Amino acid sequence: MTVPIITLNDGHTIPQLGFGVFLVDPQEAERIVSDALEVGYRHIDTAAIYKNEEGVGAAIAKSGIPRDELFITTKLWNDRHQKASAHAAIDESLDKLGLDHVDLYLTHWPTPGKDDYLEAWLALEEIKAAGKTRSIGVSNHQVEHLEKLLANSDTVPAVNQIELHPAFAQRELRTFGAEHGIHIESWGPLGQGKYDLFGEQAVAAAAEAHGVTPAQVVIRWHLQSGLIVFPKSNSRERIAQNFDVFGFELSADEIAAIDALDSGKRVGSHPDEVN
Ligand code: NAD
Repeated sequence: MTVPIITLNDGHTIPQLGFGVFLVDPQEAERIVSDALEVGYRHIDTAAIYKNEEGVGAAIAKSGIPRDELFITTKLWNDRHQKASAHAAIDESLDKLGLDHVDLYLTHWPTPGKDDYLEAWLALEEIKAAGKTRSIGVSNHQVEHLEKLLANSDTVPAVNQIELHPAFAQRELRTFGAEHGIHIESWGPLGQGKYDLFGEQAVAAAAEAHGVTPAQVVIRWHLQSGLIVFPKSNSRERIAQNFDVFGFELSADEIAAIDALDSGKRVGSHPDEVN
């Protein structure tokens, strides 16, 4: 009944289920993250651009949970890809979080129009060497971006954090990740509430069969698919519900039925268009 632990390509480990804080109001972040830590989450996914690193840090400090039991991710924003700026950015994030290192530092988007994501990646290698993050990875990188990093650096990204939910299952990037040891993290795992994922027959039927909610079915689909996942909610009840996903297992047929929902329906921005 505990959260599975995944070993990344650099030997560090990550809890497969975490809590995401995109769109968590900075004023409410401390309360909401405190709720998540009380419920049992030990993996928090934030980003400089979410403007709530201070609240996340306050919740961590208040919790009294030993640092080595927590897994904290933050991300480098798009306008800080130049090396000097990236080094300043991690220091600012650590200061806000009240930490001397994070567990995972990601470049947030490749911004290919600016063609500086390789420079950002080389900066992350230096930040890791300086001990300010245990692991480094990327977010929203397409195959061509990953290929450029692999060809021009010494480090394979530990993760690629991408939009991924049943209607947008990202088969190509998952295959590429499996071939190169890059674990996939699903953002928007519940489709961000932007389409009726919970009303899909495959999801609703599995929820009915197991006596759980559609959200719990979808989180289970991510976990059983080997994906790292950190759904977000502001409500304590849903925060707890989304963590209570280890008392049932989807059958192979149920997984296959949810897999069949893949229709290429992206709910967020296309990485080529974020610059
Ligand atoms: P999500 O798919 O987790 O959806 C969140 C929405 O689902 C919430 O608004 C909530 O109302 C609803 N919800 C949550 N639990 C529910 C439940 N049990 N029942 C019914 N509805 C429920 O979307 P997200 O927050 O965008 O993604 C998760 C995390 O991924 C983020 O918080 C963030 O950490 C990360 N993320 C990263 C990027 C990126 O570019 N790297 C982009 C978006 C999100």
